[in-house]
Amino acid sequence: MSSMFNKILIANRGEIAIRIMRACRELGIETVAVYSSIDKNALHLRFADEAVYIGESEPQKSYLNIDNIIAAAHQTGAQAIHPGYGFLSENSLFAERCLQENIAFIGPNPEALRLVGDKIVSREIVAQYNIPVIPGMENKTTSIDECIAFAEKYGYPLILKTSAGGGGKGMRIIRSKAEAKSAIEAGMREAQTTFGDPSVYLEKYLEQPRHVEIQILADNSGNAVHLYERECSIQRRHQKIIEESPSVILDSDLRRRMGETALKVAAISGYSNAGTVEFLVDSDNNFYFLEVNARLQVEHPVTELVTGIDLVHAQLRIAAGEKLWLNQENIRQNGHAIECRIYAEDPARNFLPSAGKILFMQEPGGPGIRHDCGVITGSEISVYYDPILSKLISWAPDRETCCKRIATALNDFPILGIRTNIEYLRDIITHPEFSKGNINTGFIDRYMADWQPKSESAVIDRAVIAAGLYGGLNDARKMNTAGSPEIPSPWEMLGDWRIGSRK
Ligand code: ADP
Repeated sequence: MSSMFNKILIANRGEIAIRIMRACRELGIETVAVYSSIDKNALHLRFADEAVYIGESEPQKSYLNIDNIIAAAHQTGAQAIHPGYGFLSENSLFAERCLQENIAFIGPNPEALRLVGDKIVSREIVAQYNIPVIPGMENKTTSIDECIAFAEKYGYPLILKTSAGGGGKGMRIIRSKAEAKSAIEAGMREAQTTFGDPSVYLEKYLEQPRHVEIQILADNSGNAVHLYERECSIQRRHQKIIEESPSVILDSDLRRRMGETALKVAAISGYSNAGTVEFLVDSDNNFYFLEVNARLQVEHPVTELVTGIDLVHAQLRIAAGEKLWLNQENIRQNGHAIECRIYAEDPARNFLPSAGKILFMQEPGGPGIRHDCGVITGSEISVYYDPILSKLISWAPDRETCCKRIATALNDFPILGIRTNIEYLRDIITHPEFSKGNINTGFIDRYMADWQPKSESAVIDRAVIAAGLYGGLNDARKMNTAGSPEIPSPWEMLGDWRIGSRK
């Protein structure tokens, strides 16, 4: 059964759908895109051989609508479904349903998915195999008294989590007895409304740890390799925004131990396909298992650039039944890669999602630059889905050059019509502490709390680029001398083309 699929349905949208479609094309596989009402002109449809409408814009009615997605696969004769990340990617019911319908699910087997899907259960399981976990409650609970009793016995600070979680949602830090009861009550209420389940659990809160994760690949016969680490400590509200590989804190011994531990987790859970074992590393370089992400990660490109292994190709080959063709000894880390997540949001207004039309954008390029992008000039950004527009990734032989490359690319990346976090990301990358590799999950609170856009000059620079492209270089040159009364300002020239017009 190890013959490759002829046709695959991609149950996702945006940059990741396009990323997967490109991989399929390279392997000569036909692709089926799916789309919701608001996505009828979305860029990902142009990369597929066929496109099927699957429902209204609300995710529940389209990209999370299992029946409609399965029907689209049958209708087009797709033999497999790639779920991307988010949406149905870690839904074991969906994986099971695909199996029942005789459609290959490009991801882990449903049993492994179920096992690692609950981070509290998986934490208890791996702890039985002597894998270090952060000290915490053994079970989740709906009893406030039980939480208080644990807190009193264990001490503060603690972090409250829900089992479902994801994207850092539902987590609360509890620093003292005085705030414990109200925080636990609020956490339970929030868990109930967000996930339909009020149970929570508490674990020790590590102060400013690093988030380091290991990429694994496992076939259906129990063979597995790891593709080393990704450092994902630059987080805003517990959500990653910049990732890199290698991590500057790992020496060869720690790297080897973390890689072996990740493979042990894969073996314990009977894992198959691509996955990520996440760890927190404390200031003494002790590492603790956090959870398994049973899918292709947003940040997978940094691993691809450093190891030279295409993770989507690997996922497809494994799902098609191929035995693992990689040997651990032959997998090497070469150079350095950094990824920035480009979001449609306004960092100057508390990261409010920014909807609207992209009036103009020009993708950066140059040596060592990769841009996995889901939008184009003219794309409409809605509020229905994750605000990720694209991922900008740089590769260079060393970290310093890699930082310079991505900073240059961030500077050369005009997007007009909506607000983005590009300038914010550039200011993190060029921060002296980031340059030194002095990062942990507290970085943003510590160094970026007072951030303000250096608006006018940056705004005008970008307007000049845009006007240069649209109005001719002479106009752009004229606008460079802004301030002279005879020469129209960029705003006059550009009319409605305000950068990040606030719609
Ligand atoms: P989610 O599933 O919502 O992404 P995770 O459990 O993977 O949540 O944690 C996300 C991030 O939250 C981590 O990378 C880390 O920054 C922070 N975090 C989680 N648990 C702890 C902890 N015990 N101590 C300190 N920070 C934590």
